[in-house]
Amino acid sequence: MNGLIQKIQAAMEIDPERSRIRLAGHEVAYHCEKFSTRIIRGLEDVLGVEEANTLIQQTAAESLYKALAQLPEAQPGWADMPRPERLAILFAIFKMLGYGAVSVAATNGNRTQITSANSYLAEGFLENAEQWRWSKRSAPFCHDMCGYLRAAFAVSDGVPLERVAVKETTCRTMGAELCTFEVEVTQ
Ligand SMILES: [Zn+2]
Repeated sequence: MNGLIQKIQAAMEIDPERSRIRLAGHEVAYHCEKFSTRIIRGLEDVLGVEEANTLIQQTAAESLYKALAQLPEAQPGWADMPRPERLAILFAIFKMLGYGAVSVAATNGNRTQITSANSYLAEGFLENAEQWRWSKRSAPFCHDMCGYLRAAFAVSDGVPLERVAVKETTCRTMGAELCTFEVEVTQ
């Protein structure tokens, strides 16, 4: 696992002046979470929270799934690795990509509960909330994390994205201590 992380770190160049990251030679733009938070709020205003979640979740899931598609072949012993080990590798990649730390809180059959103390969009929302006196939300906010988790479980379990459902049930933007995500994989 450490070897893989070193490889990813070696393949990553950050250019803060231009808000660009080069990942294995491919250049991608990045935004700070405070800025992204305001874009997401704008989308919610136009589409409504539920539809914004569906759209952002799907986009996040597809782009990360594509980026991780080679992982099972690139990582030696992937197929024989226990699921918690595969998830640990995927969650280490989350940290490097700046999504925030997530961990498995409970597993029950095909359902897994994931928690995060610093999911990316919640961090951005809370920073803005302090500055602009935004009040607490009545619905979860970490739409992108739902999508990233869908991609991670699809890659880990070797199933298409459509077989993974993720719902955020508690969110720090609503005043909860942790963001909680319920993941269900149907075989
Ligand atoms: Zn959240």
